Amino acid sequence: MKGLPSVEKAIFVLSRFPGIGKKSAQRMVHYLLRGGISEIQQVIGTLEDLRDKVGFCVCCHNLAEGARCWVCADPRRLSSLLCVLEEPADLMAMERAGVFRGVYHVLGGRLSPLNGVGPEQLHMESLRMRLQGGEIEELVIATNPTVEGEATAHYVAQISQPFVARVTRLAYGLPMGGELEYLDESTLFQAMEGRRQY
Ligand SMILES: [Zn+2]
Repeated sequence: MKGLPSVEKAIFVLSRFPGIGKKSAQRMVHYLLRGGISEIQQVIGTLEDLRDKVGFCVCCHNLAEGARCWVCADPRRLSSLLCVLEEPADLMAMERAGVFRGVYHVLGGRLSPLNGVGPEQLHMESLRMRLQGGEIEELVIATNPTVEGEATAHYVAQISQPFVARVTRLAYGLPMGGELEYLDESTLFQAMEGRRQY
């Protein structure tokens, strides 16, 4: 779009979103421009809310509006049952499936030495501190069933074993090489039901 650098830039920025190619980005920009100032203002306001109101839970590192996320703030959740996950999106998938009544710890990724991600780059130290508290009776490791996810599970199992009697790993039903975020609810249910001692 020669002579319209702002339009070009908007298309470029939107096309970087997952699943959005240049064509879709072009359609989105034209939709916004057709909608006029009110449409654009609504998007700006929504993004400003994301920027200003959404952060990370001080306890589990899930996304949160406020200091604690909705799971940590819920007194009905079993605080003795802790599930370790890679990303907030994995937690959302677990919550959508409704298969877990404990609390979570979001690592913020997975171990990936080749990409410079070691234990220090993840929320391992705060996990260790939670486990040291001695309140956790079972730790469910729910990292993704990928090579890096398995390595991360192994590491989590190692640091938790001195503090937790029962360390389990999601097992049955997970497709190898898959991602928790994209699983259907019944597969996730099977995986939670079939968890086993690490
Ligand atoms: Zn939380």
